[in-house]
Amino acid sequence: MFKNYTYWIRHTRSSILWYCSSRKAGCRASLRSNRDKPTLVMSSSLEHNHDPPRYHQTKEGMWVKVKI
Ligand SMILES: [Zn+2]
Repeated sequence: MFKNYTYWIRHTRSSILWYCSSRKAGCRASLRSNRDKPTLVMSSSLEHNHDPPRYHQTKEGMWVKVKI
């Protein structure tokens, strides 16, 4: 999870690619981070065409998607 949006993560040889989990719905937001330091974002385009999904953390520490 990054800035309230969820992403699919894909590892490549030199970097980690993050694709918005709504990519199939046409959202083009993605970002690229350093493979050795995943928190170091090298480039990003975070223009989502939708609102962030709402998540709620349970007592057990799990994140569940909240249906609106
Ligand atoms: Zn998105």
